[in-house]
Amino acid sequence: MSTDCLFCAIVAGRVPSTKVLETDRAYAFRDINPWAPTHVLVVPKDHYEDLAALAAADPTYLGEVFGAAAQVAEQENLTGGHRIIANTGDDSGRTVFHLHVHVLGGKNLGALAG
Ligand code: 5GP
Ligand code: ZN
Repeated sequence: MSTDCLFCAIVAGRVPSTKVLETDRAYAFRDINPWAPTHVLVVPKDHYEDLAALAAADPTYLGEVFGAAAQVAEQENLTGGHRIIANTGDDSGRTVFHLHVHVLGGKNLGALAG
């Protein structure tokens, strides 16, 4: 755990969040500033900076995080489809340096362009 990490604080319950789903090692909660009707963040409960870090350390754990993301899509009834994003590195514009997977859906998301 990293004491100055926002998502570690959310996992620990020190910062409140709206829980969507929890597994042994993953936690899913609603994004505070949603871009779509459903916008959920899925994080490993342990602190890993990004996807590459967790893939290197424990690929099974990374699979659990993505499995939880798939479960979120099912639970949120995103039958029309959804988008999963894992921002990595400065060019992505990411703001929180604890691996998180965005699960977006509930409307037609359009082309991935910009
Ligand atoms: P990033 O841009 O790093 O990929 O995404 C970080 C996400 O975390 C953003 O979509 C932002 O809205 C969300 N976020 C930032 N602070 C909080 C917070 O305190 N609570 C919740 N639920 N989401 C947050
Ligand atoms: Zn963290």
